[in-house]
Amino acid sequence: MILYGQQDISAEDIKAVSDVLNSSHLTQGCAGVSFEKTLAHICQSKHALAFCNATSALHSACLALDVKAGDLVWTSPISFVASANCALYCQANIDFVDVELQTGNMSIEALTEKLIHAKKSNKLPKVVIVVHLAGQSCDMEAIFSLSQAYSFRIIEDASHAIGGYYQKNPIGNCQYSDITIFSFHPVKIITTGEGGAALTQSKELAEKLALYRSHGITKEQQFMDKESDGPWYYQQITLGHNYRMTDIQAALGSSQLSRLDEFVNKRNTLAQKYDIAMKDSAFMPLTQLKNTYSAYHLYIVQNNQWSVQEKLKIFDNMRNKGIQVHVHYIPIHLHPYYQKLGFNVGDFPQAELYYHQSLTLPLHPNLTFEQQDYIIKELISLG
Ligand SMILES: *Cc1c(COP(=O)(O)O)cnc(C)c1O
Repeated sequence: MILYGQQDISAEDIKAVSDVLNSSHLTQGCAGVSFEKTLAHICQSKHALAFCNATSALHSACLALDVKAGDLVWTSPISFVASANCALYCQANIDFVDVELQTGNMSIEALTEKLIHAKKSNKLPKVVIVVHLAGQSCDMEAIFSLSQAYSFRIIEDASHAIGGYYQKNPIGNCQYSDITIFSFHPVKIITTGEGGAALTQSKELAEKLALYRSHGITKEQQFMDKESDGPWYYQQITLGHNYRMTDIQAALGSSQLSRLDEFVNKRNTLAQKYDIAMKDSAFMPLTQLKNTYSAYHLYIVQNNQWSVQEKLKIFDNMRNKGIQVHVHYIPIHLHPYYQKLGFNVGDFPQAELYYHQSLTLPLHPNLTFEQQDYIIKELISLG
């Protein structure tokens, strides 16, 4: 089977992991600190905090931005469920902003309209979580300027997008957001097995993220309500979780980060080849905006002629040929859990149309050009 996404593990990666296993610290040692430093440097962000996965980083980001019961959080319906679940973990209410069909990213028009209505009914969101679908940045400058006008905070769910750029700046530099989240799940751009990170330019947010990542415990005198009892002393000052990343994972992360550009370049080369092959076919790649450089976590094509049966048939046929096509994503509001919260079919029509029309083709650094030619040939022949 040609997988839709797959990790690339080198001999250096294995050595980095085994070095930690042979060391004194499997967690909370120097490999974690070093990974965070490199991550912050690469993304031109002041602070980077490693987490056990992106979901826990999203949850902690919501907590750091003081999301709580009664607050409203908005996100994109075309994402993995974690982008919305993180708000529900905080007892907040979730709502969605419809997407732009051509990119699958949050529509600026839909966001603007929803904000105008929300202001009238006094239901403005506290936080908007944008999702850089497939690795292409949302229009962050526009979203940031709306956040200034309507006073909401911004989390970038950049789970797909490490190594990508927006306006010539690396995604993760938080120029237009409060916090950016990455995922290091094996199908993503780099991997730590399970893992994630939160990046921010704000010292205050970084301190809060660290607190929520580790039980709400601090060792810093400035946050304690009394003099320290001694060098062993710490205080729990809020309720946090154990969301830390191990040094075993961090060492793998650092080793993977050294090949980040190589991975993203290869993904872009393969994507360009797909783009050329899709010209004059029934399939349309996602539109790439001028000021973005996608990390290409996913290569998605759309066919606007498809009936449900036709798409199903192509999906099955491709899988029968040993090609693991996929669909990203089932709109979050269509999941039974979200339907029970009150969302309905038809609530976000562009997202639903996007879902119906879209198909993900295999894309990862180890995909060979021969495999890609085979995928293209089979897809075009099924039309
Ligand atoms: C993968 C993914 C997540 C969750 O990442 P984990 O590291 O598995 O927790 C969240 N949001 C998006 C958009 C993702 O693709």
